[in-house]
Amino acid sequence: MLFVFIIVSIIPLYLFTVILLDNYKDKAISNKFNQMQNQIIMLSNQMLPTGYLTLASVPEIDAEVSRIAEIFQGRIVVVNNNLNIVEDTYGLYDSNKYLISKDVIQCFNGNSSRAHDKENNYLILTHPITHTTEDQKVIVGAIVMNSSTRDIQSILTSLEQRAIIFSLALAIFIVIFAIYFSSKLTKPLTKIVSSIDRLTEGYMEEEVSIKGYYEIEKISDSFNKMINRMQKIENTRQEFVSNVSHELKTPITSIKVLADSLLMQEDTPVELYREFLLDITDEIERENKIINDLLSLVKLNRSSGDMNITSVNINELLELILKRLRPIAQKQNIEVVFESFRAVIAEVDEVKLSLAISNLIENAIKYNKPDGWVRVSLNADHRYFFIKVSDSGIGIPEDAQDLIFERFFRVDKARSRESGGTGLGLAITRNVVQMHRGAIRVYSKEGEGTTFNVRIPLNYIA
Ligand code: ADP
Repeated sequence: MLFVFIIVSIIPLYLFTVILLDNYKDKAISNKFNQMQNQIIMLSNQMLPTGYLTLASVPEIDAEVSRIAEIFQGRIVVVNNNLNIVEDTYGLYDSNKYLISKDVIQCFNGNSSRAHDKENNYLILTHPITHTTEDQKVIVGAIVMNSSTRDIQSILTSLEQRAIIFSLALAIFIVIFAIYFSSKLTKPLTKIVSSIDRLTEGYMEEEVSIKGYYEIEKISDSFNKMINRMQKIENTRQEFVSNVSHELKTPITSIKVLADSLLMQEDTPVELYREFLLDITDEIERENKIINDLLSLVKLNRSSGDMNITSVNINELLELILKRLRPIAQKQNIEVVFESFRAVIAEVDEVKLSLAISNLIENAIKYNKPDGWVRVSLNADHRYFFIKVSDSGIGIPEDAQDLIFERFFRVDKARSRESGGTGLGLAITRNVVQMHRGAIRVYSKEGEGTTFNVRIPLNYIA
């Protein structure tokens, strides 16, 4: 992050400075050339009427040429149309000498030329002296003017120094800012990572409280939600394990008590043996039922990949279940009625759905009153089918209605046990419904009866 900060701030800053200084240099040089050219034109205008170029001695013009050469810290050489040197401010040449150079000759074609000698730091401007009469322009000489660029160079050097100082100060500021900001940015993440590590090691009790920018706070919120959910899962798991142990132990404890009491008595009558052994068989059956229900539940908790989906005639399925359960209902003189509003064919796992609906109807019979009734109805719309199981039974207290789907929850343990209940039936039913992407609801009034509504999609949604 620090690295990215440096790249996106210092490199553009450096480029900006270099381009700015380069631009200044170009502008300053072109300015200087323009000034030189203006001076040459002014000089030419002064020279023309005086015959200066025909080697006449005009001390005022000599003085003016020298003055200008001095101002520009350079040298001015004036040449006439014979290429005779009229004036050289350095005094190296006199009028016996000629100046024949490419630039001077080009001047007589009307072209001025500019050159920059970077090595020696000066500019050379060669410009024609033009005599304009009414109808024509005649080139009567040329001026070669040198000017030092030291002044530009010294301004540039001072600008460069300032830019370096400014850039360094800015770079230091950026680095400090980057270190501060990147550590501020990454610190909460490090905290979350260490919390995740602790979670992986098995410490689930911790929540993280991280203050930072919005996204980080959201991560920490989501993380805490995840921990809460994991804690809940862990608690239910532990509760489930302890419930299972307890439920499995109860019949075994009873068996042990029954067997011990038989063993402790001497001369026990055969009838008592028989009676106790019948009780022992009951307990074994109960143990067996709990184990079977547990196995069903464990199987259902696996992935939905275990679903065996086929097209099933739900009317026939319900008829079959009711046929099996009616004799049990008849023992308590309970009337079982089936109402079908339409023929329903749906994509379901037949075995699982059958188990789920059987549990509901068995409960409606088990928790009923003598001479009561159980009503099962089937209906459908274009997306779902609805199964409703109502009874005229004892009902479920309001505060227990949310809990009945929990594993091993029973309103009245004794009654459930008496009727062979394990407290797992509704948990199995809810799992099956959820595996079919359906929903289950309970409506009940204590002492009046209970209704379970099940809604399942006609077409299986994987
Ligand atoms: P169980 O094996 O005890 O029947 P379930 O999971 O099937 O376990 O049901 C949980 C509890 O919900 C039952 O013990 C009972 O108290 C209550 N219950 C379920 N269905 C009904 C019903 N139709 N009428 C009254 N109470 C019911």
